[in-house]
Amino acid sequence: MLTLTILFSGLGGVFKILGGVLYGSKAVFVDAMTSVANLMALLLAVRYWRDSLKPPDEDHHFGHYKLAFGGSISTLMIYSFVAGVVTLKLVELREYTVSLEAPLMAFLGVSCYLIAIAISRRLRGAFTHYSKFTVSELIEGVVVITSSLAGALLSYLIDYAGALFLTLYIFYELRDVFSEVMEYVGDRAPSPDVARTIREEFSKNNLSLGSLRLRNVDGTHYQGVATVLVSPDEDMMSLSRRVDEVKKSLRDHRVDLVVEFKLRTQEMSFEYGE
Ligand SMILES: [Zn+2]
Repeated sequence: MLTLTILFSGLGGVFKILGGVLYGSKAVFVDAMTSVANLMALLLAVRYWRDSLKPPDEDHHFGHYKLAFGGSISTLMIYSFVAGVVTLKLVELREYTVSLEAPLMAFLGVSCYLIAIAISRRLRGAFTHYSKFTVSELIEGVVVITSSLAGALLSYLIDYAGALFLTLYIFYELRDVFSEVMEYVGDRAPSPDVARTIREEFSKNNLSLGSLRLRNVDGTHYQGVATVLVSPDEDMMSLSRRVDEVKKSLRDHRVDLVVEFKLRTQEMSFEYGE
């Protein structure tokens, strides 16, 4: 499956490079560059996604989940490089001719991507970022075919406008992926639903929850610290058993929780920094 996706993406890239380099279309050139970037990003996403699946070990006590961001971060790097290259291509504004073969090559390239997307849709998982870029490859495909065709038949300026649009689109996509990565790098707290599930789990086991601190690890896994309020006369054995019960069922919700006990006192404050 994956091999087929890579094969068709690669083939699509070859057609576009031919159209952009041999047949003079700047729009097809920009599209070709993003296709190559797309393929490289896919390969790296697969590699880091595989790494992220490993269980916790000696050098990664909290699991390897965050390694999956290696895929998104490489995507950012590769697309930033491409953005620079195509910007240089756009800076040289001289009249040029676009051959009719350019839109043909773009058409063949886009067709290959259609097949690649159809296959990669069944893969899901780590390919969210990838498939996002691939779907935009299609939007770009329509732009590149029409603008290079009009560029060959009417004026090179239409082809140039197409190239400009595609370049601006790269910057837009970069911003999108960047803010997604920052969401998790910034240790944002998960949605209130997750906290509610955790609170319910504690009260189900007759435990009084004090503070609860949570962070989103990779969009599907959460880690945190919970404080359970106890009275001096409570049975330690029963407490630990119930806490284990909570931890066990939370693990099914992909929540990895550290639980500490705190003696119930007259003045209690539940600051996040505790
Ligand atoms: Zn490790």
